[in-house]
Amino acid sequence: MTRSNAGDGTAFSAPAKKALGQHFLAEQLYIDKIVGSVDPRPGDRLVEIGPGQGAITLPLLRRHGELTAIEFDRDLIEPLTHAAREIGTLHIVHSDVLKVDLTELAGGGQIRLVGNLPYNLSSPILFHALDHAGAIRDMHFMLQKEVVDRMAAGPGSKVYGRLSVMLQAYCQVTALFNVPPGAFRPPPKVDSAVVRMVPREAATLGIDNPRRLSEVVRAAFGQRRKTLRNALSTVCDSSAIEAAGLRPDARAEQIEVADFIRLANSLRNE
Ligand code: SAM
Repeated sequence: MTRSNAGDGTAFSAPAKKALGQHFLAEQLYIDKIVGSVDPRPGDRLVEIGPGQGAITLPLLRRHGELTAIEFDRDLIEPLTHAAREIGTLHIVHSDVLKVDLTELAGGGQIRLVGNLPYNLSSPILFHALDHAGAIRDMHFMLQKEVVDRMAAGPGSKVYGRLSVMLQAYCQVTALFNVPPGAFRPPPKVDSAVVRMVPREAATLGIDNPRRLSEVVRAAFGQRRKTLRNALSTVCDSSAIEAAGLRPDARAEQIEVADFIRLANSLRNE
């Protein structure tokens, strides 16, 4: 472990652990862009997933004064605590983020989530966050660009799928900017991108039964080349698809998010 007095960037360096998806952001331009996109305001409760060596943590702390960070790697806890000491109040939760009850962490309020996520856990972390959407005001995540493309895709796109529909059903999803491999140490093999997600107000969602929506979307895209009639055969019959105003011979990739919600709601009594 090497300590340095680097300005806003990493305050120390430790060997990256591949199994934990450790690719540390090193280029100041992108650190500034992330902090600028989050744009913390007084009173905000910031929670970072995977602070690593503090590339985003310390600049956010410098700007905002207080931050909670959830980090799984025991070896990073002490140096991170040390690096933050002079800058602000850093609360570190030493845990697997998937085991953290984000609603409890929000304590009745709403948190703002930030993270350059471990790419091997992107989808589980996104779905975990969705489970706690009511306690989250917004999320700014760095992910593989390919994943961000899928998250933000609309009907008709080749990459429109389960991830797009499920995330967009609950959140407004906006791809913000791309980040090249060279901005990280060590560089990942793929391009990255930063995405903003803003959970919709519970009252405006119109989702009667989240589990049923999930079941319908999973079945529809489980066999995306098939017609809805065939792909959804274990979930409902053609007449239910028609009753929801959809064509049984359409394919999942053509169906709008709102239509999936309407179809799932219409299956209430099936
Ligand atoms: N935020 C730092 C940066 O931008 O340089 C590090 C980002 S690195 C891509 C991902 C971070 O997530 C690492 O610090 C890694 O140890 C941490 N991590 C990996 N799996 C985790 C988990 N299940 N829960 C919490 N943190 C995790």
